[in-house]
Formats: sequence, C-alpha cells, structure tokens
Amino acid sequence: MDLPLVARGKVREIYDASTPAAPDRLLLVASDRISAYDHVLPTPIPDKGKVLTRLSVWWFDQLAPVLARFGASHHLVSATDVPPAVEGRAMLVRRLEMLPVECVARGYLSGSGTVEYRRTGSICDVPLPPGLVEGSRLPEPVFTPSTKAAVGEHDEAIDFSAVVTAVGEERAIQLRELTLALYARAAEIAEAAGIILADTKFEFGLSGDELVLGDEVLTPDSSRFWPAATWSPGDVQPSYDKQFVRDWLTSSGWDRVSPPPELPADVVAATRERYVTAYETLTGTAFG
Ligand code: ATP
Ligand code: MG
Repeated sequence: MDLPLVARGKVREIYDASTPAAPDRLLLVASDRISAYDHVLPTPIPDKGKVLTRLSVWWFDQLAPVLARFGASHHLVSATDVPPAVEGRAMLVRRLEMLPVECVARGYLSGSGTVEYRRTGSICDVPLPPGLVEGSRLPEPVFTPSTKAAVGEHDEAIDFSAVVTAVGEERAIQLRELTLALYARAAEIAEAAGIILADTKFEFGLSGDELVLGDEVLTPDSSRFWPAATWSPGDVQPSYDKQFVRDWLTSSGWDRVSPPPELPADVVAATRERYVTAYETLTGTAFG
C-alpha cells in the first residue's frame, strides 16, 4: 500500500487517505495481531482483522439512530472503497480530533471493576449494593471512564470530575449520557442474540464541533461478551473475548513481563473460532 503510515497501534495501522476533495480521510487497517496483558503476542489469529472490521461496520449501522438522537454521528465513510490489498479489514473514516478519554460502560461486574468494588464498594464513584461478585449484573449500567494510556502503558480508571477537567462539563455529561445510551442499545441487541454485553469501551472525537464515535466498536477486543446460556455469577465467565487466550497464557507460566510465548495451533484455532462465533451470533450472518 502506498498510503503514508500515520500510526501503528498494537492491533491496527492508520494511514493517511486524504484527497484534495476529502482532506480529512484516514484508513484504519485491522491486522490479525492479538494483544493480551498489554503485550502483542507473536502469533497472529487468522481472519481476526476481518472479523473485527466487519463487526464494527455492522455495529456502526445499528447505532446510527442512537447517535443521531444526541446530534452525533460515527466516523465510518466506507468499508468497500478501500485499497484491494486490505479489502475486508479496512475502514475509510473521517479523521477526528480524538478526546483524551476512553468511555467505558459496564452493566456487569468484571475484571478491574470487581477489583475496585471489592476495595471500595463502588465503581467510579457510583456506590453499589453489598454482596456483588465477579459476573454480577449491576443494578444499573455505570459509566467508568479511563485515560487513554500511551503505548505500553496501562489505561487508568478516572473519576467523572477528571473527565470534566479534560473536556469540560457539558461535553463530559454528553459523553456519559451517550456512552450509556449506546451501551443500552447494544446490550439489548446482543441480548436478543443470546449474548450478554458485560462491558464495552467507546472512543469519541470531534470533527469540527460535531461529536463523532470513532475507533472500532463493540468487538471482542473492546468488549466483554458472554454467552447468556452459561452466565453464572461468582467466577470468571466463559466468554467470546480473549479471556481464553489470557487463561492459556496464565497456565503457560508466562510472567507477563518477558516477551510472550507463541500460541499453540489448537489455541489459535479455538480463538479464531471464538471471534467468528461472536460475529455470527451477533449479526445472524455467516462469516463465510
Ligand atoms: P491499543 O488499542 O492496542 O491499546 P492503540 O489504541 O494505540 O493501541 P489501535 O487501537 O491499534 O492503537 O489504533 C487506533 C488508534 O486510532 C487509536 O489511538 C484511536 O484513538 C485512533 N483513532 C480511531 N479512530 C480515529 C479517527 N477517526 N481519527 C483519528 N484517530 C482515530
Ligand atoms: Mg485502541
């Protein structure tokens, strides 16, 4: 591809796709790389980039009416008008001025949410009833923003006042309300497909004055999806996300500091299967 590379994330490459007629275009290309515990693993997962791209594209369409209610929109311009070399795993998008907050919504207690709850009885300043456990449904979904960490660093939970400091009060309230509205709609769609959307992360940016939903959305990389049929609070839930890879990494004895090990072929195949199943179950269409 002969487009200038703008940035390379852990999973995606971003290219400058601007033209004189459309000076604000970027091309987001999803690779098959998989990251866990803030490391990129040496073994790619075949088709992962395509699955994540197709799923994001599908969700942007599903969520457009919610965005419109807030006077917002999404950044996707086209998933087909892309260079042939990256067809299927690229999105042509509007370049945004990204806001420095990751907008997380949680409907269930899991991971770092559980850790915070055990320590403080609340998450992100929202007091919760006693007796909740890993996997519990929260009385109401909660907005739990975090910082956008620099490469190699951990995202850090922040409280709502830090969002206000970063983007101003009006924008912070809009981000919270929109994040929760998007989560509610997405959780409802997922539930109809037999999937619990435990939590998810959105990234927003500005195009001029307009608030725009950017990045990837509601993929197994940015969300926790649990099969509703096996949901049983009290322990780590079986999931469609990379929990499976994380568990294997833990059992491999890897210390999370040295370079991560290659994944064995059966773990690669099972992980690919999980990504494909998530796509097919949510959208009701074959990945093909
Ligand atoms: P990781 O997600 O692995 O922690 P990362 O977020 O740095 O790392 P990627 O997710 O691979 O890397 O790359 C996507 C980057 O592009 C993110 O920094 C995201 O904020 C940014 N981005 C997404 N959509 C847009 C957009 N429309 N305009 C400008 N930047 C965008
Ligand atoms: Mg990212």
